[in-house]
Amino acid sequence: MTETETRSQAPQPKPWIEAIHAYVPGKSASDFEGKDGRPLIKLSANENPLGTSEAALAARADAVVPSLYPDPDSNALRAALGKLHGIDPARILCGTGSGELLSVAASAYAGPGDEVLYVRYGFSLYDIVARRCGATPIVAPDDDYGTDVAALLALVNARTKVIFVANPNNPTGSFLPKGEIARLHAALPSHVLLVIDQAYAEYVAPEDDDGALSLAASSANVLVTRTFSKAYGLAGERVGWATGSTKVIEVLNRIRGPFNLSNSAQATALAAVGDQAFVDRTRLHNREERARFAGKIEALGNDGLRAIPSEANFLLVLFEGPLTAEAAYEGLAERGYIVRWLPGQGLPQALRITIGHRRDMDAIAAALREMAEAAR
Ligand SMILES: *Cc1c(COP(=O)(O)O)cnc(C)c1O
Repeated sequence: MTETETRSQAPQPKPWIEAIHAYVPGKSASDFEGKDGRPLIKLSANENPLGTSEAALAARADAVVPSLYPDPDSNALRAALGKLHGIDPARILCGTGSGELLSVAASAYAGPGDEVLYVRYGFSLYDIVARRCGATPIVAPDDDYGTDVAALLALVNARTKVIFVANPNNPTGSFLPKGEIARLHAALPSHVLLVIDQAYAEYVAPEDDDGALSLAASSANVLVTRTFSKAYGLAGERVGWATGSTKVIEVLNRIRGPFNLSNSAQATALAAVGDQAFVDRTRLHNREERARFAGKIEALGNDGLRAIPSEANFLLVLFEGPLTAEAAYEGLAERGYIVRWLPGQGLPQALRITIGHRRDMDAIAAALREMAEAAR
């Protein structure tokens, strides 16, 4: 057999799989050479600077032995989430991070010939989960980096099967209030599944709730996803959950991974749900430091720096003056701060900076000021 023949007989990925660009995670500290032995501070993946609840860490240490399979249905965790949010556990599904749930939602309701819709500067995983099931990703224009409900609705047609809206959105931090979410849902044909990705919901003040959980309770076509990766400080345990109608949850349950949450993931997340004081501390810390940092960026307005108003645990900072985002990214890395530069998401003019400890945010703001002054 010639080499060409061998190659033509090799397994061929489906063309829609071939078109996928792998997810690009935020750089980690180990990607950079630490200068002068100084520790590198990673503010590129929206992880919790306060770490993890002590109660959750203790439960993780006590988690049942690794030789046993975990509870396939994460029953204790679903019951605790149901109690906390007032949801029947039959309408809750847990996933290996919310990423798994976004993927099964697209696969269950969309396929070749169908369209999956989301907004420009939406979460980068939506493109992957749409293509993975053979559907066509459709990108609606933004409204000054925010989600534009009218623009989304204008692109809905008979082929549209799933809409993803992250609220707050990543990487912009922008937030649609309850009225806008309700307006979007009310105008959608009933065959479209509206997925509201609430990865950052715990950072939103309770009185500003976007109403998505109650829509998920009352509608046949709304799915809400949540994660333990952000405010709960459990990114490394890979735990997410979703809620929707009994029917939607039952469908997604058929195609999620069996035993998708490990023993330690279930035990740790269960204890984390029980420590709402940690989540409250996280929200308050984030609110205070985000406002403080945003104020310092605003003071650099004459140098062309601008932060998109954020309800999440990060700020998207635009560089519209002489100091470029790329130069700022490199300057911060030299000073030991790893943030997220997003040219691959059509945002070469922006840095997404996770809100960390005050000393670090103050140091970053001071470094940006110094670089902006030098670039004048
Ligand atoms: C971080 C994030 C997630 C969470 O992903 P996990 O798989 O749960 O870690 C989901 N959606 C958005 C918009 C995010 O930023």
